Amino acid sequence: MRTILIVEDNPMNMELARDVLEASGHRVRGAASAGEALQVLQESLPDLILMDIQLPGLDGLELTRTLKQDPRTKEIIVVAMTAHAMRGDRERILEAGCSGYIAKPIDTRALSREVARLLPAVKAVAHAKQR
Ligand code: MN
Repeated sequence: MRTILIVEDNPMNMELARDVLEASGHRVRGAASAGEALQVLQESLPDLILMDIQLPGLDGLELTRTLKQDPRTKEIIVVAMTAHAMRGDRERILEAGCSGYIAKPIDTRALSREVARLLPAVKAVAHAKQR
């Protein structure tokens, strides 16, 4: 079982993403802001973070940059969720340290597929650490 932290300020999107990921057998934690996410991360580290880009206060890309600069959190895979599908957004998202992204409104199949695509990388990292 993998643990996924969803950072999302919209309750309906949170519920949808939670349902999809729990149905795939993952343990899900939620945070509605960057501040809440940092609190959750103080307690335990997830395998993957599903990160809304548009958050009140510190946004998802700034939070991702912060996490990627911290040795304790930099290995966590981050998947962005964004309503922006404009040219240049993909580059901006990947530059911030995200490993992938899905577009909003959330397509439940796209979400499952992207998370499944990136989780084997988590396993490889964990394996490398054991050596
Ligand atoms: Mn949002």
